Amino acid sequence: MSTPASHQPVVEHFEISLQTPSGEVTTAVAVPTSFVPVASILPLLRGLDEESQRLEQQRLVEGGQAISCRKGCAACCRMLVPVSAPEAFALAEAFERLDLPERTRLQARLDLAAQRLAQAGLLKQLSSLADSQEPLNDEAIEPLNRSYYALRMPCPFLKNEACSIYEHRPAACRELAVTSPATACQDMTSPQVASVPVAVRMSTALSLLWAELTGTIPRLIPLPLAIDWAKRHEAERARRWAGTELFEKALDKVWRYLSQEKVR
Ligand code: SF4
Repeated sequence: MSTPASHQPVVEHFEISLQTPSGEVTTAVAVPTSFVPVASILPLLRGLDEESQRLEQQRLVEGGQAISCRKGCAACCRMLVPVSAPEAFALAEAFERLDLPERTRLQARLDLAAQRLAQAGLLKQLSSLADSQEPLNDEAIEPLNRSYYALRMPCPFLKNEACSIYEHRPAACRELAVTSPATACQDMTSPQVASVPVAVRMSTALSLLWAELTGTIPRLIPLPLAIDWAKRHEAERARRWAGTELFEKALDKVWRYLSQEKVR
């Protein structure tokens, strides 16, 4: 344990090693021992996610394949992105830190997206998904995913075909890469699209963590509604947990995910 300076949080250092289908992921983390918000766990899980993605992409490249994703290509940013509650809180915080003109611009984009979803008859269903009290399985959500993608509505956070919240983008966005030609991504439902396998879906691990912490269902919120959802859940956003408890529980969810994937 270290106490670098009196005004800095006390942290405990851990070395983590995870065996994933892409190989062994190791990382060193500093975990605050004080009480912290749930979004504090994101850097750890993002680090693990990035490392396992890097290993998987390296394995594919060594096998003669190439990653087609390039800056300026945002064909996939028309799909429905599921966001866990901790990610929604982090997004809301990032949104609030924006300067006023950018915040106003972004709010107008979010309002426009909500309008378009309402016109398409999808807003109610998406809102029910965000606030559902019953766990929903992938099969139940799939028709909604398809109807959303059929709109080909650019993500409200997309600006000039680039992500305007790149540092804060959800895990589902970070985990999507393809080895098929970029032209195939004009239709992400096409069997021609070859996605890079993902060892751990971090949004799922985070939604399981949130469910355990709050005694609720594993919740995934549609991205265009995530900031509004976080604003409507200020009390949960303000809650604090011991850093070490969050860390242990989050790792437990990642391990469980990996062991379930192994037996599938
Ligand atoms: S958050 Fe960024 S990366 Fe994700 S869909 Fe929106 S624009 Fe694309």
